[in-house]
Formats: sequence, structure tokens, C-alpha cells
Amino acid sequence: MPARRILVLGGTAEAAALATDVIARAGDRVDLISSFAGRVESPKPPPGRIRIGGFGGADGLAAYIESESVDLIVDATHPFADRMSRNAREAAERTGIPRLLLWRPPWPRHPLDRWVEVEGIEAAAQALRHLGPRVWLTVGGSELAPFAAMADRWFLVRVIDAARQPLPFADGTMIEGRGPFSLENERALIRHHRIDTIVSKASGGPATYAKIEAAREADLPVVMVRRPLPEPGERAESVAAAADWILARL
Ligand code: NAP
Repeated sequence: MPARRILVLGGTAEAAALATDVIARAGDRVDLISSFAGRVESPKPPPGRIRIGGFGGADGLAAYIESESVDLIVDATHPFADRMSRNAREAAERTGIPRLLLWRPPWPRHPLDRWVEVEGIEAAAQALRHLGPRVWLTVGGSELAPFAAMADRWFLVRVIDAARQPLPFADGTMIEGRGPFSLENERALIRHHRIDTIVSKASGGPATYAKIEAAREADLPVVMVRRPLPEPGERAESVAAAADWILARL
């Protein structure tokens, strides 16, 4: 039997864990390709093959699926990577290959959490007008523009690679860091920088949850950007369930 070709759309810890799990369980019955947008350097490439860069929309992805004879596709992208997810659904529909969404459950809201839930990054910037002036912005480095005009705010920004971008604020500081982050680390940052407000996307997952716990402990408001709706279709809510889905189709 020739190996089944699996395309995993990645850029998340879950995608890397899935590649590791499936290759460990299925060996040479699979030819697994992990795909990255190429925005950040991967600390440790997952096992299997790797491709980097956009496909050119749903049409480009459908063409790739056909030219590479991809048998199955798993969309294990971040919950906010909605463009890639939509393209994955459309390309799978067009080419007729099975698609699974590996869906990361959102963080549950604790009764003591002080979340101000908003739709989108622009709305998060608006919400800050009513909150404290020392803001820890935990959104992506490419999503800072809506905050740039807020001259009366001080911003802490944490990015993976500071050399890739200048800080677009009059007042603030940029630090480097790559998750997972510990509660001790997040507590210390809040204390050291005298943070009084946090902005976060409702990403879910354990790697970045400590800041939410640290905010709760310190009784700080968190402006929480709601997720886009997930694409319809088959979905798994854990890496193990996604691996089972693949193995059942070999
Ligand atoms: P997006 O807005 O949904 O995607 C924009 C474009 O980037 C896509 O149309 C596609 O280009 C390309 N792309 C995205 N993911 C790709 C992948 N895995 N492989 C190949 N091309 C990909 O996505 P995004 O929010 O910019 O996220 C980019 C990557 O970072 C994703 O892999 C995501 O899992 C990861 N990530 C995102 C976040 C976040 O908050 N958004 C956080 C952590 C990690 P073409 O149309 O040309 O194919």
C-alpha cells in the first residue's frame, strides 16, 4: 500500500503535536506534510515533511492538493487564522478530499474574571479608552496598528522576534518571548511594568493561559477579543482525536 499523503495546516503547538503523534503511530503508512505561513521561525520543526508560505488562496490550495495528490487535510491553524481555515474548507470541497478541523476549545470564563468582550481588534482599541493607561497588549505583532494613535497610553508588547518590527507607539516597550509562559513569569511582568489593563485574543489553549490567571489574581480587566466562528464540518477537539481520525482513514 502506498503511503497516504496528509497535509496539516499548522503554525500551532497542536499541529506539531499531531505530526509527531501520527508519524509515531502510523510510521511509513503516512507521508505527512506540515504547512506554515512562514511568519515566524519554528523553534523545532515537527517530524515529516515541511512546506512554507501561502498557497495563493483557495484556488492555489486546491491546485496544490491535486498536484501533490494529497489524500487528507487537517486544518490545525490558530482559531484566529480564519482566512486559511476558509480556504481549507473551500479547497477540500472542490477537490473532494476529507478535511478535519482541529478546534482548540476556548478558555472557560471564571466568575472572578473581569473580561470586557469585544468583536475585533479595532473594538479592543476603543474599549481601552475607558480603562487604565498601562496596557499589556498580547495580540499579534501585526495587529498593533489600531493602538498606535493612542498617545495617552503606555504599552507593553511581547513578540517572538523583535527584530522583525519597530514598536509603533510613542510610549511603551517591546520584549521577546515564546510560549508556553508560566504563571510566575506573567505575575512578574504585571508587577514589574505596573500593568493595569490587558488585551488578549480569546485564543484558548494552555500555552498562553497563565496571563489570564495572573490578571484574575491581580483583579485586572482583560479586553478579550472574541473568536471568529469556526468553519463548519468535521472537527476534533484534541490532538489524540485528530490523530484517530487520520488513522481511521489510512
Ligand atoms: P490567516 O489570516 O488566516 O491567513 C492569511 C494567509 O496566510 C492565508 O490566506 C494563507 O495564504 C497564509 N497561511 C496562513 N496559514 C498558513 C499555513 N499554515 N500554511 C500556509 N499558508 C498559510 O492566518 P494568520 O492569522 O495570518 O496566521 C498565520 C499563521 O500563524 C497560521 O499558520 C496560524 O496557525 C499561525 N498563528 C496565528 C495566530 C493568530 O493569532 N492569528 C496565532 C498563532 C499562530 P494563501 O492565501 O496565499 O494560501
